[in-house]
Amino acid sequence: MDSANLSFSDFFNMHDLDIMEKANKYYELLEHLKEKQHLHYKRVAIEGSGPVRKIRDSYSGKIKEMVYLASNDYLNLTRHPKVIEAGRIALEKYGAGAGSVPLLGGTLDIHIELEERVAAFKGCEAAIIYTSGFGSNSGTLLSMLHKEDVAILDMLVHASIIDGCKNTNVKFFKHNDMDSLESVLKKVKDKYRTKLIAVDGVYSMDGDIAPLDKIVEIAKKYGAYVMVDEAHATGVIGKNGRGTPEYFNLEGKVDIVAGTFSKAVGGVGGFIATNKELVSLLNFYSRTYMFSTAMTPQATASITEALNVIENEPDRRERLWDNIRYFKKNLENLGFSLGNSETAIFPVIIGDELKVREMCRYLHDADIYVNPVLYPAVPKRLSRIRMSLMCDHTKEHLDKALNALEAAGKKYGVI
Ligand code: PMP
Repeated sequence: MDSANLSFSDFFNMHDLDIMEKANKYYELLEHLKEKQHLHYKRVAIEGSGPVRKIRDSYSGKIKEMVYLASNDYLNLTRHPKVIEAGRIALEKYGAGAGSVPLLGGTLDIHIELEERVAAFKGCEAAIIYTSGFGSNSGTLLSMLHKEDVAILDMLVHASIIDGCKNTNVKFFKHNDMDSLESVLKKVKDKYRTKLIAVDGVYSMDGDIAPLDKIVEIAKKYGAYVMVDEAHATGVIGKNGRGTPEYFNLEGKVDIVAGTFSKAVGGVGGFIATNKELVSLLNFYSRTYMFSTAMTPQATASITEALNVIENEPDRRERLWDNIRYFKKNLENLGFSLGNSETAIFPVIIGDELKVREMCRYLHDADIYVNPVLYPAVPKRLSRIRMSLMCDHTKEHLDKALNALEAAGKKYGVI
């Protein structure tokens, strides 16, 4: 291994090391990246979310005000006065925590209200809420699928879905490729008890949308169920922000609608919206729900209010889409490769890990906060800078970012 230029890719080849040896090597890698000022993870903000944030520079220790292109808080709801006020009232009324798991004393009236609100918002019969989106996906799948069953996954689905399929058989199909999906289904035939296709509505690293209309049609033909993870679609996609099923006119027609409250909803936690029978089963079968303390009162009330805001303030979504169109057009004009991004998530695909790290450092110095996304999160040849937009980015913020991206792209031979 070339110690002059260690990379994350080198680290993941070290399969033979025990855990402490591995930790030592990883530490060495992180120190090496720090020395080069290439470590742009876990940068510390000293104030809450928003399109511009005060960040403590990891190297100089100075506070920098940066244009923040790293939030999933697409509609800037974490700072919405009504969302904050609803949380404050609940905090005072119910206290700081729920005090117990939902089945054994932790359930509050506001939890039930939120479950009903989510079900109505997603056009489903019932819903169940979890304290994390990761836990709702993984816990639901772990409880539903076993060795007699099969999960048919788009190869880019979120890690929480993959982890949820550890108890079952897994077949992958090529990303958003319906021929590949159909060919997997043909091979699977009737060999399994339950066949479940799981996809993301919007892909978190690529920003493209699943062709849910075709997926539902193919699933019907082969007797498979469909689960869609609406983490990045909720609040953003569809006329009313209800997500991918609304976008494709499929509300109430997707078997399992999963999602998180942690992105456009501006809170924390996850949900599963489906029929009332499956929701009842999950209450008693899903270990990440049953054995985990119920959502805090503040988060619960803030999320319910955020869903109201998503419905009542469509101008936020319109401003977000305005920004998306503007940023996309300009990045494309500069000659950057954005894959098939169609939403607020922008991957600038570069390929070379070192160039990604160097560009991120350049952008950091220019007060633009972006994230490097590297192997193994994405294939090595698709190493990228990931950016995401919010409705409250102004054209000045976006122009500042575009100017810095242009300069960095030219400096490192990317455009
Ligand atoms: N699904 C997708 C597609 C995600 O991007 C994420 C968050 N990174 C999750 C699930 C997990 O959600 P949470 O952060 O709320 O646990």
